[in-house]
Amino acid sequence: MSVASRAPEYIRAISPYQPGKPISELAREMGIPEASIVKLASNENPLGMGPRAREAAVKALADIERYPDGNGFALKSALSRRFGVGQDCLVLGNGSNDVLELAARAFLSPGHSAVFSRYAFAVYPLAVNAVGARCIEVPAKDFGHDLDAMRAAIRPDTRIVFIANPNNPTGTFIHGPQIEAFLQQVPPDVLVVLDEAYTEYLNAEQRYDSLAWLARFPNLLVSRTFSKAYGLAGLRIGYGIGHPEVVDLMNRVRQPFNVSSVALAAAEAALGDEEFLAQSARINERGMAQITEALAELGLEWIPSAGNFVTFKVGDSAMVNAALLRQGVIVRPIGGYGMPEWLRVSIGLPEENARFIAALKQALG
Ligand SMILES: *Cc1c(COP(=O)(O)O)cnc(C)c1O
Repeated sequence: MSVASRAPEYIRAISPYQPGKPISELAREMGIPEASIVKLASNENPLGMGPRAREAAVKALADIERYPDGNGFALKSALSRRFGVGQDCLVLGNGSNDVLELAARAFLSPGHSAVFSRYAFAVYPLAVNAVGARCIEVPAKDFGHDLDAMRAAIRPDTRIVFIANPNNPTGTFIHGPQIEAFLQQVPPDVLVVLDEAYTEYLNAEQRYDSLAWLARFPNLLVSRTFSKAYGLAGLRIGYGIGHPEVVDLMNRVRQPFNVSSVALAAAEAALGDEEFLAQSARINERGMAQITEALAELGLEWIPSAGNFVTFKVGDSAMVNAALLRQGVIVRPIGGYGMPEWLRVSIGLPEENARFIAALKQALG
């Protein structure tokens, strides 16, 4: 009997997460310089990190021999001021991925279930399976969350419902009042994890105030990240906002030093850099128009997206993806999400978008 075969069945059944292809890997495979590669595969900020975050990160390196502040006091103070919530409502994560896992670890065990939508973010089933709980995947409506069906799918053993808004990889968006109505219908002993990884990209008409709901719904946990609009994906930092009792449980299962000192410092500085955030949203809006106009011109179907990426249909995605890679353009195949005919492209800088569009034309022609 091998040691691996002794791991719990629910661990051995997990299918690994498929990340976007790293630039260095494609450069090695194709024998081309890294600088010639355009990576639009992981919804990263094409502007990089903001100047204030960079300065804070570099400065924090001077004290790198010290353990970080395990409670993240300075960042929590900044988040608390920014969003008008108590520090005891905040939990910090090594990316918001960590926040999602902390929720799963604190609220799920074998015998429990979690509800999420088909085509929703791949980390939900990973987090649920890792603690031996059961996934209830609810059919989507037009590639988006069907909240009525999700409500109906909740069983007595359900402890968490995950909602991604906007969702990745489809970019679909649910308006605030619909989520509020959903919260009113969900049993109060079921945690609703509202994953708002792309919330900073929403336009004025889409914006809603989920934090205002916390007072009425102690079973709501909002998760956000510094990986996308703030441009800190490589540093790994995100946060959850919820009821103090929920946050307290999550903090108990958290590694004492789960967020690095450099990430804490950079995130605090990034939070105050409104100008960079606005610039990121602006670049994204223009790039989204640039890419969707090209998709329309090519006669391709795409799913309207509220995020910093768009998913489009090409039919033979393996062939088109291979042709894009040969031209040094990395996008994301999403066969693993059950969408084998689609590709997801992240919005880049204008010249990166143009490279992608030219390569796509070539790949299809
Ligand atoms: C990118 C993303 C995250 C954030 O991941 P981090 O761990 O914070 O880098 C969370 N949820 C969704 C839906 C995402 O697309």
